[in-house]
Amino acid sequence: MNTTILISDLHLSEHTPALNQLFKQCLNQWQGRIDSLYILGDFFDVWIGDDDDSNFIREIKSLLKQFTSHTPIYFMHGNRDFLLGKQFAAETDIKLLEAPQLVNLYGQNYLLVHGDELCTDDIAYQQFRAQSRNPLWQMAVLHKPIAERRMLAGQIRQMSETRKNSEGKSEISDVTENGIEALISTQNHQTLPTLIHGHTHRPAIHEHSYLNQPFKRYVIQDWANDYGGYLAVDAQGVHVHELKL
Ligand code: MN
Repeated sequence: MNTTILISDLHLSEHTPALNQLFKQCLNQWQGRIDSLYILGDFFDVWIGDDDDSNFIREIKSLLKQFTSHTPIYFMHGNRDFLLGKQFAAETDIKLLEAPQLVNLYGQNYLLVHGDELCTDDIAYQQFRAQSRNPLWQMAVLHKPIAERRMLAGQIRQMSETRKNSEGKSEISDVTENGIEALISTQNHQTLPTLIHGHTHRPAIHEHSYLNQPFKRYVIQDWANDYGGYLAVDAQGVHVHELKL
């Protein structure tokens, strides 16, 4: 024990059977052997409401439910699964997190976000984000028939697809210094936390400073094709792990 695992951007769906299997293997390995699992958004490639039902969703729910009976799961929304709600959380016993989330793990502070809020150069997306995180907007959407919500989900997916660059891998907008500074400036300047996020599909470890105080930023590995990854945090700090099928 004495390890906490963080993952994000698995983008699981019924079209990713190999990654779903990889996730299942990870859960088997981690269950009861780690202190907790943090999922920092875009766990699902798309989420149109907790009333959506399919074999894929039922299977994932049962995996999560089984896991949380031994080990807690904390879940933060991404830009693809921000409609995931309390019903799903109740059915799986995961705990939904607000963002940003400051957590203390083994004596060190970590600031957790999905990462889309840091991409401040993408004005159109930030406008959509502000609108789509409004509870009234969400309620209106969730009252629409499921077929209509699927169309909306297609549009949302297309919005981030058209933002992908020529490598076809990352979304055009990376995080910005302004976005990072706006977030980190809300923290205690004497003891800046380590920032951890996903979203950009650009796994890395960055060194920053704010008001002459250094802090690190870990970008979590996305999962795609036949690979994935995760961060393991223990008393020694953060360790980067790669996964291969
Ligand atoms: Mn994302």
